[in-house]
Amino acid sequence: MKANELTTEMVPVRGALAPVAFRRSPRAAQISLRIDPAQGGVVITLPPRASRRAGLTLLQTHEAWVAEKLAALPRALPFLPGATVPVNGIGHVIRPMPAGRGGAWIEGSEILVTGGPEFLSRRVSDCLRRLARQRLTALAAEKAKLAAVTPRCVRVKDTRTRWGSCAPDGTLSFCWRLVCAPEFVQDYVVGHEVAHLRHMNHGRQFWTLTEQLTAHRIAASAWLGTHGPALLRIG
Ligand SMILES: [Zn+2]
Repeated sequence: MKANELTTEMVPVRGALAPVAFRRSPRAAQISLRIDPAQGGVVITLPPRASRRAGLTLLQTHEAWVAEKLAALPRALPFLPGATVPVNGIGHVIRPMPAGRGGAWIEGSEILVTGGPEFLSRRVSDCLRRLARQRLTALAAEKAKLAAVTPRCVRVKDTRTRWGSCAPDGTLSFCWRLVCAPEFVQDYVVGHEVAHLRHMNHGRQFWTLTEQLTAHRIAASAWLGTHGPALLRIG
């Protein structure tokens, strides 16, 4: 295993098989394990000379804790025909249209997807990313105007640890999964990152500006704390 290389294997945890990813880290001082909500599994980080077996021993020592955490994870929501996927916080049903053409789009409370079943998941994902880019870019432009700043560009990615970020060069990045969250949550995350274009810190002036740009700081932070892990399991 090279530095940071991941190998994943299925390991029994309290009678059920769980995906366990081994990560080699040159900087780690000791073996550690954590739950990865996006994958619904465990990540074991190994320092340079620690063995995989030593990692498994640590897992066994904490088997009860791991089993409890895995059981508490939100269920995966794959893009399948008939599945209900939240868009702006409202459930939309995936409706295949095998004979149609034109990819995937939203109509009323449905996500219509043309083509064969093998393309369905990818097309839904592309549709939601496109929608996320449109919505979050428009929101960022609106708030940037209020704050009298100009973002260099707005990117939409599949970030797993942050809902949004602001780079020193003025690039704003957002996780596409925010398009699944209610609009007030999108409003807050975008307001927060736009405020960073002025204040690259979390000081008092930053929060004052954030609250001028969005009225939803408290409710949205609470929503993300409770429902954020479920967003990571969509798709
Ligand atoms: Zn921040």
